Amino acid sequence: MKESEGNNQYRQQILTPIALQYVIQIVPKLMEEAFDAYNKQKFPRTYFQVSISEYTNSTAGILLSVIALESYRNLLCYHQHKPIQKHDVTTDLCDLLLQNNQPDLYEKFHELLDELFIVRDVIAHNHMFLLDVAHDTDWQMTKYAAQLLEGYGDKKYNKVVNEESRTTRRLGLNVQPLLMSFEDLFKVLLVIDLILGIPNIILSNGLPLHIIYKTEKYWVNNLSELLTYYYVQIPNKDFMVDINKLSDGLRLDLNAFLSGELFINNICPKCSSLGFKRHSRILSCISCGYEIKFEVN
Ligand SMILES: [Zn+2]
Repeated sequence: MKESEGNNQYRQQILTPIALQYVIQIVPKLMEEAFDAYNKQKFPRTYFQVSISEYTNSTAGILLSVIALESYRNLLCYHQHKPIQKHDVTTDLCDLLLQNNQPDLYEKFHELLDELFIVRDVIAHNHMFLLDVAHDTDWQMTKYAAQLLEGYGDKKYNKVVNEESRTTRRLGLNVQPLLMSFEDLFKVLLVIDLILGIPNIILSNGLPLHIIYKTEKYWVNNLSELLTYYYVQIPNKDFMVDINKLSDGLRLDLNAFLSGELFINNICPKCSSLGFKRHSRILSCISCGYEIKFEVN
């Protein structure tokens, strides 16, 4: 054997989809910080902003998570030997994952992705709003208006954002940055969880994100478990209802195409409420109390 060949015996080819690691390494920490701040709020919330800690951690988490989707697109393109379309990650992802043969599904999926990427744009390009706020002498808010300044937003923004509520039409994500909260981060991750659950040629069961993260109570092993950990503690009952409704709709639209352990499919076998399996040894419903117990030897 020649010396040069011997030196190459451990040669490897390694891809660098680095942003996927953001969801694994950094986003769970941001989520924990955002949840701490969120948990201190009083609901229903009627203010023009959440706390600085909540919106900074939530927006950073959203930004890194959506960037990770671009990383995922690049990985899929490489494996399918397709060039990336530099300016349209959403269309690329729909084409790569759905192969254009499901027109209804394609449209719905594109909408969801557009909402995520619009929120990313608002954060990354720092869309500026002018807030007009007034309080009475007891510091109760008496007026609130948010105006997106001229020059920000585009055709796609106008299509997916409800002008009046300043939220996206399907997912209800806030676009006024000071209102971007734990709830918005939660919804973004819920959608990313299901996007990664679409089978593709790299892995027949989608791409599992092996998030190994120690919460205050136990270790979680994937995105679905991380979402469930927070879901069962959510202090805002209206948001829980919202998440159940959203998950029901997504399950109805997309379930035939999804696989793996996904948050939207993590439902109680008795009453169908979300958040049943918290991890491999805790299976318990917060709505009806049904649980599966394990015998301890
Ligand atoms: Zn139940």
